[in-house]
Amino acid sequence: MVSSRFLVKGAQSLTSRSSMLSRSMATVQSSIGDKQVPMSNLEKGKFVNYARIESNLQVVRQRLNRPLTLAEKIVYGHLDNPHEQDIERGVSYLKLRPDRVACQDATAQMAILQFMSAGLPQTAVPTSVHCDHLIQAQVGGPKDLARAIDINREVYDFLATACAKYGIGFWKPGSGIIHQIILENYALPGLMMIGTDSHTPNAGGLGMVACGVGGADAVDVMAGIPWELKAPKVIGVYLDGKMSGWTTPKDIILKVAGILTVKGGTGAIIEYYGPGVESLSCTGMATICNMGAEIGATTSLFPYNKRMAAYLQATGRSQQAAYAQEFNHNLQPDEGSEYDRRIEINLSELEPHINGPFTPDLATPISKFAEEVKKNNWPEELKVGLIGSCTNSSYEDMSRSAHIAKEAADHGLKTKSIFTITPGSEQVRATIARDGFVDTFENVGGVVLANACGPCIGQWDRQDVKKGEVNSIISSYNRNFTGRNDANPATHAFVASPDLVTAMTFAGSLTFNPLTDSLKGADGKEFKFSDPAGFELPAKGYDAGENTFQAPPEDGTTVNVAVSPSSDRLQLLKPFKAWDGQDIIDAPVLIKAKGKCTTDHISAGGPWLKYRGHLENISQNCLIGAINADSGEANSVLNQETGDFGPVPTVGAYYRDRNIPWVVVGDENYGEGSSREHAALEPRFLGGRAVICRSFARIHETNLKKQGMLPLWFKNGADYDKISGSDKLSIVGLNDFKPGQDIKVEITHKDGSKDSFLTTSSINEGQWEWFKAGSALNKMAAAAKARNQ
Ligand code: SF4
Repeated sequence: MVSSRFLVKGAQSLTSRSSMLSRSMATVQSSIGDKQVPMSNLEKGKFVNYARIESNLQVVRQRLNRPLTLAEKIVYGHLDNPHEQDIERGVSYLKLRPDRVACQDATAQMAILQFMSAGLPQTAVPTSVHCDHLIQAQVGGPKDLARAIDINREVYDFLATACAKYGIGFWKPGSGIIHQIILENYALPGLMMIGTDSHTPNAGGLGMVACGVGGADAVDVMAGIPWELKAPKVIGVYLDGKMSGWTTPKDIILKVAGILTVKGGTGAIIEYYGPGVESLSCTGMATICNMGAEIGATTSLFPYNKRMAAYLQATGRSQQAAYAQEFNHNLQPDEGSEYDRRIEINLSELEPHINGPFTPDLATPISKFAEEVKKNNWPEELKVGLIGSCTNSSYEDMSRSAHIAKEAADHGLKTKSIFTITPGSEQVRATIARDGFVDTFENVGGVVLANACGPCIGQWDRQDVKKGEVNSIISSYNRNFTGRNDANPATHAFVASPDLVTAMTFAGSLTFNPLTDSLKGADGKEFKFSDPAGFELPAKGYDAGENTFQAPPEDGTTVNVAVSPSSDRLQLLKPFKAWDGQDIIDAPVLIKAKGKCTTDHISAGGPWLKYRGHLENISQNCLIGAINADSGEANSVLNQETGDFGPVPTVGAYYRDRNIPWVVVGDENYGEGSSREHAALEPRFLGGRAVICRSFARIHETNLKKQGMLPLWFKNGADYDKISGSDKLSIVGLNDFKPGQDIKVEITHKDGSKDSFLTTSSINEGQWEWFKAGSALNKMAAAAKARNQ
């Protein structure tokens, strides 16, 4: 630990550290025992494992001999091997055992297809799948939902049957947005979850370490393999004072985003603490954690408190609240624990903020916003205001917005801008309908959309402006990158609290400041909005609404997974061939990629996402964005067999169909970007055997190994220049390979001349077994088969 780190308030200086240590160490004496408290009300026989966290922490405390932040307690409490694990923040790679996995419907498809290949009867940890991303907002809730069910039927049928077979909880379309459902049913203080969606950190509002991951990581955890994470740094955000008036939890994260910027949280957990936490509701804390994804944070986290307890009780989890209270010593940071960076925010002074356009970290306090609009020539007219999404769709959010809408209605006003409302879950929808908020919104012209992602993920059939028309919208969502909501690059998208969004739709102008400005009522008289007021939790309790949950049967072995052989969206995976024990000889270079080659260049998104459950179809985008170093062009490579040039996937498949293995050559940091597993699956599917680069992005390198590819590093980076796209490469000595050894590669140039170079790799014993088996899943399936014999 370096002395420049920051201490949890209460500690005076590093010189008093030894006394603090003894004080904080005293907190570990209590024992949680091994009570059987259910992890959720929906999963039989799955219990909260606080005892494991406690016992892990006893080992870790003895080894580190220093106070721990809350993030450290939960993360290290989930170590696979606390005795031998290297632990250095920002340096070591931790092997962790998360408690659960959550997948949304778009990313679940390939994750489950891969899990099926592992040959396991059930997921190793409780898992849930949520149908929320594929529902397009067009005219309003029920009609949009019915249309989505029709269009996506085969995907939903596949997910529903696969979930039933493998013991996974399935949330049907219309149930709500993944992160709201998780908060309502599964998130618990001190536990750890991974989810195949970047806003999984939402569950930090209930004190859970919840991280967004790629499908490959989810498959590992579902199959019982530890999850690897670089030991996060910890950024402490000290909250002082108390929120009031128009300031909301959203403004805390908008302010933090302005301070840290979109990259400032990378590799770190943001841990909130201090007396100001008490003024935040549980769902408000979730909002803050949710949007921590916008600053690149691994996740965000709050200490356990009475507001979390109240939410757990309101959502039928009093038993879990009581157990968390018992475990509270491990749900707070130790006094004297150190942060890598510390930020302080006084909530009593915090102004409401509006962030954007085009980036979530361009933060402007409301008092300066009108000036900025004019200065920057942002379109003043507000076309659309959207509230909801997983970020701000709680009962409290809706009740405050309804309060504003009611006040405007009392003055005879309807919204000037289009106004849409997305409830976060069926439970929130049913409750706000029962309590009259839906009527309030509709009375002023609002449209209540389906309980789904809708416009937040671009599932929005927007009709009010044409593509390319410059315009402004404001939402209470989290992301506002160019084109995210409506695919119109000229749309200026801003992000703010639901309170500001709602008020501004009545003004129809971006320059309206409800804290200071007046509106004219239908009677011609001016009025000012009063401070918004709402309800943290519904006084009459939550109304569960329609039952949208499908619990898995106790024995799913007889369930048939529904995949039509003629589907163009879904395709069962066939195991990749095992290594034949021979060196890879005369493999043509499919492409020598120049410069940046991210996972987007390797497996493009956009329209291709429709095929993410169909490996053969989506492989038609393989490496089409990579730049051919020989020609400077994308998606045009030499077919060394025919002498013609063709698209990368076509040439790759040509070789594969003739049993000719091929190789990719890449530059620096190959495979950076999102961790999408398709970028490793596709080259393998098309017959690739190795990728040789100057350097790899770590996650992609691991993904390649999982699919049975060889990721090799030029030992001497300059050897990259020896190769062209018309060369053949032989990777030799594989039979004698031992992890840690160099691997020799021989080049045969087009003119027959020869050369060679050495490569290194980070392949370990286990990963070498993956290569030999053809993939990690093949290895797993063989082990499962052996166990069953
Ligand atoms: Fe992602 Fe938006 Fe859906 Fe939330 S509502 S899960 S941010 S797409």
